[in-house]
Amino acid sequence: MSILSRVGRSLAPVILGAAVFTAAPANAEVNVVTSIKPLELLVRAIAPEDVQVTTLVPPGSSPHNYTIRPSQRRALENADLVFWVGPDMETFLIRLLSAEEFHGRTIALSGEELAEEGHEEEHGHDHGHGHGEGEDPHLWVDPMLGLEMARDIAKALAAQEGADQNAISEKLAAFEVALTEREAAIREQLAPAKEIDIFAYHSALVRFTEHYELELAGVLTLNPELSPGARHVAEVQDKLREATHPCLLTEPQFNRQWWSSITEGLDVTFSTWDPLAMEIDATETGYIDFQQSIADAILQCLPEDAQH
Ligand SMILES: [Zn+2]
Ligand SMILES: [Zn+2]
Repeated sequence: MSILSRVGRSLAPVILGAAVFTAAPANAEVNVVTSIKPLELLVRAIAPEDVQVTTLVPPGSSPHNYTIRPSQRRALENADLVFWVGPDMETFLIRLLSAEEFHGRTIALSGEELAEEGHEEEHGHDHGHGHGEGEDPHLWVDPMLGLEMARDIAKALAAQEGADQNAISEKLAAFEVALTEREAAIREQLAPAKEIDIFAYHSALVRFTEHYELELAGVLTLNPELSPGARHVAEVQDKLREATHPCLLTEPQFNRQWWSSITEGLDVTFSTWDPLAMEIDATETGYIDFQQSIADAILQCLPEDAQH
């Protein structure tokens, strides 16, 4: 037996082992944590199958007043990437994500980063079709802001070690086509809804109605953590009284008991929508299904379909 062949045999397992070892990062699971379900839907739209996504705010809870659990803290610590809307939305994450260990793997999809040295404001997600003040933090209900968020998510996923960049950019391109098509379809479906007066529980619906050029006649509470003040309730009641086909869009996260006294004696149609998309399956088409679900909730209010 030659020395060479003996060396060859004895080295073979080592070389194989090394090959497996260096290949491992390409197949390593990417762990993503999202603050709320709609962001999970955006990740699912463009991420390869093996990307694991954990969402923090569970069904029935609101990101406005959520308290994080110890197990979720661990999930955050183990995450390769953390996506949240930003400090104006998920206030429960501000202190936690300010920690040094989260720098470089935390992405605020509003573009509003936490105070960080050397960070320049680059883009404010203004997709320029005349939205209002841009102060409302429920950005994800606007389909074009959703698309912007998906682009930022794709950029972050593609920058992960061993990421399949082609697969990610193909999925992003397909998502853009599908979302743009659905947006046009929804715009057409919602045309008759310009004839009704839409009222919302809190401001989460604002950017959807703005995007589709619908009139939002009133918002019950500007801060969903608090019950609205008596004067504001009286104002909304006056608007409801004078409204044409008033439609009140409630949300599953909030107690709707107190609606009944506000609307007593008035001919108001109720419909429920969920800004947190809890009933929507977390699949590739989830975000587009979510957009349709909001439109469907509004369409429930049209006189022909009215459910009194
Ligand atoms: Zn909200
Ligand atoms: Zn828009």
